Amino acid sequence: MTSPVSPTSTTPSPHPRLDAVPAYKQGRSAPAGASKLSSNESPHPPLPSVVAAIADRLGSLHRYPQMTAPEIIGRLAERYGVAPDLVTVGAGSVELAAQLIHATAGEGDEVMFAWRSFEAYPSLVRVAGATPVMVPLDREHRHDLDAMLAAITDRTRLIFVCNPNNPTGTVVGPEELERFVDAVPRDVLVVIDEAYVHFDDSAYFGPATTATDPGRGAGLELFRRYPHVAVLHTFSKAYGLAGLRIGYAIAPAAIAAAQRKVAVPFGVTDLAQAAAVASLDAQHELALRIAEVTAQRDRLQRILVDAGWPAVASRANFVWVPAGERSVELDELLHTGGVVARTFPGEGVRISAGSAEDVDRVAAALRAVPVTDQIPDTAAVREEATA
Ligand SMILES: *Cc1c(COP(=O)(O)O)cnc(C)c1O
Repeated sequence: MTSPVSPTSTTPSPHPRLDAVPAYKQGRSAPAGASKLSSNESPHPPLPSVVAAIADRLGSLHRYPQMTAPEIIGRLAERYGVAPDLVTVGAGSVELAAQLIHATAGEGDEVMFAWRSFEAYPSLVRVAGATPVMVPLDREHRHDLDAMLAAITDRTRLIFVCNPNNPTGTVVGPEELERFVDAVPRDVLVVIDEAYVHFDDSAYFGPATTATDPGRGAGLELFRRYPHVAVLHTFSKAYGLAGLRIGYAIAPAAIAAAQRKVAVPFGVTDLAQAAAVASLDAQHELALRIAEVTAQRDRLQRILVDAGWPAVASRANFVWVPAGERSVELDELLHTGGVVARTFPGEGVRISAGSAEDVDRVAAALRAVPVTDQIPDTAAVREEATA
């Protein structure tokens, strides 16, 4: 049937479900010479062995990547003692988070997560047509697991638990997490996003899996014991490969199979796969780097507290300062001192750990104007790309 509408009278318009999707804003870029502490990146350049592995593949760039990523998936399956078909890789774990949502939820379904948590969750959920259910963190900036349990409805399809939580750096312990998982109906997928788990204890990079180590990496152990748990890990943070885009999920077989259906084909390059394998071969070097980052993180927190700012103890590679009305003031202070952080006006400031020099710079920035002399200027909330 021919349409009565003249072909030139209308224009394509985006689907209305996108109206509620905020555009993802990247961490503010830093002027040359400044400390970029806005995106939780590694302060270390890639390891030489990783660069060499990538260089080896450059001559094959005219070929598509191996879609099944057999080498890295084999290595991860072996490392965690799971069947390879339960492991999926994606262009960063943010892509895997999107896959898990698309695999389980659609129009009319609910996807729950704590708030404030990872910036990407609300948009990813809305893009899938589902409804985000955001449960406030408790007074200690931790997941309020009881409130999350109480918020489950028959529409709930997936729950993210970001552990350690971005941006607050807090964790829920393994027993607490198990009690939660055990109480969640088995038709609801609990996704434990462990993007920062490697900073929870610098000894993470041992030969063993995380299975028996209390306080860190509880996700894999819960995955083994429950049929409705998936775990997200990334090579972007502790492994320092943010620019290459590779992360992985370990999920129940039916969910992993559904992820492969919704994945955009060829999303993970061979360069990224090779770099990830080389990183698994460099655990010892990476462990040293992680120990450095966590030492600077703890130093950063002490410096902030000593300067009178309410910095929260962190188990990740950043420190959260719930400065409330004074967040923009702290942001200005840091900015003047050559430090770019991630600021949520009216809520807080997240500062990535960075190198010793970066943390020195934070200390100097805070000293430049003693906090007690500051006059809160809430009117000066400036329009900025918080990211
Ligand atoms: C950074 C981050 C990720 C994933 O980053 P990718 O670069 O996409 O792997 C996932 N979850 C949280 C909470 C993060 O902060």
